[in-house]
Amino acid sequence: MSSACDVAILGAGIVGAACALECARAGMNVTVIEKNAVASGATGAAMGHVVVMDDSPAQFALTKYSQYLWSALAPELPPSVEYYRPGTIWIAADEDEMAEVRRKFGGYSSQGIACEILDSDALADAEPNLRRPLIGGLLVPNDAVLHPQNAAEYLMDQAQKLRARLITGHAVTSASYGRLYLDDGTILPAGILINAAGALSSELTPGIPIRKRKGHLILTDRYPGYVNHQLVELGYLKSAHSSDTDSVAFNIQPRISGQLLIGSSRQYDADEPGVDPHILKAMMERAALYMPGLPSLTALRSWAGFRAATLDNLPLIGPTEDPTVFLATGHEGLGITTSLGTARLLVDHFLARPSAIPIDPYLPSRITTLQETR
Ligand SMILES: Cc1cc2nc3c(=O)[nH]c(=O)nc-3n(C[C@H](O)[C@H](O)[C@H](O)COP(=O)(O)OP(=O)(O)OC[C@H]3O[C@@H](n4cnc5c(N)ncnc54)[C@H](O)[C@@H]3O)c2cc1C
Repeated sequence: MSSACDVAILGAGIVGAACALECARAGMNVTVIEKNAVASGATGAAMGHVVVMDDSPAQFALTKYSQYLWSALAPELPPSVEYYRPGTIWIAADEDEMAEVRRKFGGYSSQGIACEILDSDALADAEPNLRRPLIGGLLVPNDAVLHPQNAAEYLMDQAQKLRARLITGHAVTSASYGRLYLDDGTILPAGILINAAGALSSELTPGIPIRKRKGHLILTDRYPGYVNHQLVELGYLKSAHSSDTDSVAFNIQPRISGQLLIGSSRQYDADEPGVDPHILKAMMERAALYMPGLPSLTALRSWAGFRAATLDNLPLIGPTEDPTVFLATGHEGLGITTSLGTARLLVDHFLARPSAIPIDPYLPSRITTLQETR
């Protein structure tokens, strides 16, 4: 039996790390248990686009709030986190997508998000390596980019400076009613158990509807100035919404190093963790449709990771039927962005503090309704 703590966090991805720091800042005695290493799950496989998305009012609220929290933290972040704001350009390939650009512009502007519609010439000026002509796009200048693994490590380091304890190399085998069991037989009593185990969180809280959604990325050599913004085809939204079929979409990110990260793919029912060459080929073919010079660049590495998808594309944040178990999971393709907002909402809930945005749309209590309407 290990000594009791106020809060035990299951998993040290970026969500677990953000929760650890937020709880430690609130004066709680925190222990984080990670079966591998910090950021060894989806966080280590992610792109690190800190982006406002508007699929639903609740997604918009959480991404906007979280992006604000990242920008407030930015002055403290060390250079290794590589936080900067290249902005996003959502690219329209046809008139239907240009209509979507105008819809997005209206919605973002009305909610105070700076953005600008680019016509074909303005898009070509902003990104000379894109295919010409393309019809236009939406520039969202305050969207940011960071190095997800280093960001998670930074958050965890900061939590440890506030006396949070990190146990790595041990899996949690079960967690309920104020007790957490590790694979070496250790029992850890804790007042609050936060399940932040990402795509594996349903192994620890049976019954929560989390599906693994595999994604691939390709990292190139350094090509400074080849891409100036994070570029995402508007078809990305169709890919993100597709419910069962495999999909790819053009999404490219310029890193501070000059390297380019090329995405992205989405697959359900693909549990094998390795890279699938067919998916990489499909991603590169899609990317070349938008940026014809890309296939001539040197790719250094590719990898895959698993997003934690929910039925309504919103994360599960808050209490469960077990009064000691709380969820911070199901962030699908937005968990780097929304990690800070998730942690703040949870701790606001623990302390009964007013929160900047309502927690209600993310509460796990909606699970039953979601399953019934499926
Ligand atoms: C290809 C790809 C690109 C992405 N790009 C972006 C992006 O640009 N922007 C964005 O916002 N998001 C992006 N995401 C999504 C983002 O990576 C995830 O939403 C986020 O990393 C989730 O963090 P997490 O801490 O919840 O999960 P994870 O990072 O998966 O962490 C969970 C941790 O729990 C540990 N764990 C699991 N089971 C146990 C156990 N039994 N005991 C102890 N530990 C356990 C795991 O080892 C892991 O370290 C991307 C994801 C992928 C796959």
